[in-house]
Amino acid sequence: MTTDHPVIPHFIDGARTTAPEPRTSDVFDPSTGRVQARVALASEDEVRAAVDSAERAFGTWSALNPQRRARILLRWVDLINEHADELARTLSKEHGKTFPDAKGDIQRGVEVVEFAAGAPHLLKGEFSSDAGTGIDVHSLRQPLGVVAGITPFNFPAMIPLWKAGIALAAGNTFVLKPSERDPSVPVRLAELALEAGMPAGTLNVVHGDKSAVDALIDDPRVQAVGFVGSTPIAQSIYEHAARRGKRAQCFGGAKNHAVILPDADLEMAADALVGAAFGSAGERCMAISVAVPVGEETADRLVALLRERIQALTVGPSLEESSDFGPVVSAQARARIEELIQVGVDEGAELVVDGRGVQVPDHEDGFYVGATLFDRVTPGMRIHREEIFGPVLCVVRAKDYEEALALPSEHEFGNGVAVFTRDGDAARDFATRVDVGMVGVNVPIPVPIAYYTFGGWKASGFGDLNQHGPDGFRFYTKTKTVTTRWPSGVREGASFVMPAGS
Ligand code: NAD
Repeated sequence: MTTDHPVIPHFIDGARTTAPEPRTSDVFDPSTGRVQARVALASEDEVRAAVDSAERAFGTWSALNPQRRARILLRWVDLINEHADELARTLSKEHGKTFPDAKGDIQRGVEVVEFAAGAPHLLKGEFSSDAGTGIDVHSLRQPLGVVAGITPFNFPAMIPLWKAGIALAAGNTFVLKPSERDPSVPVRLAELALEAGMPAGTLNVVHGDKSAVDALIDDPRVQAVGFVGSTPIAQSIYEHAARRGKRAQCFGGAKNHAVILPDADLEMAADALVGAAFGSAGERCMAISVAVPVGEETADRLVALLRERIQALTVGPSLEESSDFGPVVSAQARARIEELIQVGVDEGAELVVDGRGVQVPDHEDGFYVGATLFDRVTPGMRIHREEIFGPVLCVVRAKDYEEALALPSEHEFGNGVAVFTRDGDAARDFATRVDVGMVGVNVPIPVPIAYYTFGGWKASGFGDLNQHGPDGFRFYTKTKTVTTRWPSGVREGASFVMPAGS
């Protein structure tokens, strides 16, 4: 740990914290490999202060009618857009994704806040008149109270905005625990929310590690926990929250396949695969990490097209325009990716392009891994089973359609999948039968737009409601049902029979 760098503070009760921080963690610039700042790691007291503040703000914020909350959210969107270049530069320098990709990270988050501004419509309940004689029934959607979000390093703007945008629109107050690896953008987003008119304490940010997360989950005032990150942590947070009797939705890792049928436009598929496998250095939960060409001829042609494209890619500093993708987030991430590449070689996969040991001039200490392509990977291999979360694409050759369909369906993860074909019937069959949560047809990264829901299946998601879209509102509200009868002068006397619809 270094001491001569600025400390990125928490944002509690409408202000950046200023108290000295005994525990901090280094924040790197992955393009240079150097420490650029330190981030505070919250103590239990600081987590409690954030929840106290959110609890105090809840009365005011939840009492605003949904349309007034929506107006503040739309002002927040305007401010985020005005500051998009500044936010994207900061994001790119801490995460390592390129500047245009960082803008995309912000934009996909903003789209969910825009959707959330439709809260007046989305919070409407149902009404049934004359459910019994003179009896009406209606339902209300009410906020939960203080809710928490714990988010990963790979989308430091988008995922906090997905969670906070909908939770806040629904009238909750929010405590965000973003990744300690790229913590600056979440703090700026909270500052802009305050500037947009959100009362102090409505959106708080605490940085930290496991102890901050445990303190949040253990606080009885926190009503719900939304998590996104790796599968082991997602599962343990889901179990922890459930033991505390809380609502939880926890999204985990992925191993997304793209199936390429023999009739596909192979040039289009190869372009799509290269973008989806190597964009953001493969550090996307919807990255394609396995290509499944059907038939040997399709496979030979596809591998040739991929090799050509991969050899033309440039990995370089995140803020340099010539870079197709930047470094991975940390030295540990690079070491793990390179180790798994060696595992692939040792297990007998054919290493077509090796991205290890790539040198970027004047950035020799940056955390770079070049684009890597494996052919003839088989399902038992670790590089097919495990999420690598780096710029590594594995080709698993399938002999026929059924074998190709089985590969993503039988995989432990079930986040996203794509099929490339010109055959509508085959695409329809694939989308219906594949055991995966999000499907793209000739679309390599099928991240659903804001007004649909996002969520993977199997080990990619724990909990039964997805993120954003209508499910987001269901997760962040509780339903109350009111049955009403007004005195009408008719007296029936006491009844001891269970009231029924007949
Ligand atoms: P991570 O699991 O290491 O960290 C996620 C969050 O959990 C961070 O805020 C981190 O500080 C916190 N955390 C880490 N260890 C913890 C512990 N022991 N106890 C409590 N909290 C802990 O994930 P990451 O490396 O930041 O992100 C990459 C992972 O996230 C990948 O596996 C990727 O697939 C996944 N991801 C999934 C989705 C999705 O929607 N399914 C989206 C984005 C990323």
